[in-house]
Amino acid sequence: MKVTVKKIKNESDVLQILKGLNFNKLFQNEEKVYIKPNFVAPRDNSTGATTNLKIIKTIAEALNTIGVNPIIIETPGMEYNVEDVFNALNIYDFAEQNNIGLCIPKPKDFVKRKIFQGKVLKFAEIPQQILNYKLINIPVMKTHVITTITLGMKNLMGLCSDSTKRMMHVKGIHKTIVDLNKLIIPDLTIIDATNTMQGDGAVYGDHKKLDIVIASQNTIAADKIGSRIMGLEESTISFLNLTNFKKKIQIDGELKCYDFTLPKPGKIYRLIYRLLYFIDIFFFSFFKTHFNKFLYSTGLIGTRPEILKKCTKCGICSDICPVNAILMEKQKIDYKKCIRCLKCLEVCPEKAIIIKGVSKPEKIKKND
Ligand code: SF4
Ligand code: SF4
Repeated sequence: MKVTVKKIKNESDVLQILKGLNFNKLFQNEEKVYIKPNFVAPRDNSTGATTNLKIIKTIAEALNTIGVNPIIIETPGMEYNVEDVFNALNIYDFAEQNNIGLCIPKPKDFVKRKIFQGKVLKFAEIPQQILNYKLINIPVMKTHVITTITLGMKNLMGLCSDSTKRMMHVKGIHKTIVDLNKLIIPDLTIIDATNTMQGDGAVYGDHKKLDIVIASQNTIAADKIGSRIMGLEESTISFLNLTNFKKKIQIDGELKCYDFTLPKPGKIYRLIYRLLYFIDIFFFSFFKTHFNKFLYSTGLIGTRPEILKKCTKCGICSDICPVNAILMEKQKIDYKKCIRCLKCLEVCPEKAIIIKGVSKPEKIKKND
């Protein structure tokens, strides 16, 4: 099983990877191909949280060149609104400008599919759009507070309905990721390790620049090599260990290992997280909103900004806030509106915004 690892300086390096993977033979003229990036949250690629749009653009152009229609398909994390995330990442304009279709599955688009040999997850609701077309998986290399790391296998959760995502957390995330990967098998997995994330990922960790791309026709093989590049033993990552993948991996390129800081939150945090999803089963059926989204809107939990008294009311943060969530006169954040993009934190010249919550970048923790 071949896995390509390459340092990326420009788009021709990405094109070279595609050439080495017989890209032109994998996809046929006039075919539709769905691209599954990682647009989990409203934080752009410079933070390491979401897929690099330049990589998607290069792949989409290569598809267009051979007469294939590329379509981005994605559902962000349950605690975020799709429109907020896509607006913050500028995805609507990006897709239009680059001749890429956009598919945001609606509830009626999800079909229930049996997972043959699924040990814990017997069924999953996935978009009917991907059933008859090819799929390119473009995850980001990141650490993750619940699964330690997230690469190609975990990224496929973003194709599931909210109820399947919730069930995966409740039933046990590692085993269900392995089961889901028996149902959704991408034709190509291209791990974006240009801007990666370490620490308390997968949204509010620390940015780490690697400028690497890892690609394979086998998602598990790509993840195994990805985990080694992150300096980790595959056996320490439960979902990789549970795959029992025994095929020999042939590496095309240089395998250099890096030192990634792992997430700090431990077992109790993961247990509480799992409990929230369990409560959500009942909460959502009564209130038609997700329990974690409701909790974040109270401003009492979650990674969130807070304005300190030293604020000079200059208004810079308010100008950049994409959802007008900053109440300037009161020097407060409206957490019902705040989408937790942390753009306000980045621009404040007075360091008058702090971040509350368990998951946050290491340098912000030091300032606490
Ligand atoms: S940018 Fe900082 S100082 Fe200016 S209004 Fe916002 S919090 Fe206050
Ligand atoms: S208040 Fe800050 S974190 Fe919240 S949406 Fe506005 S810019 Fe983003």
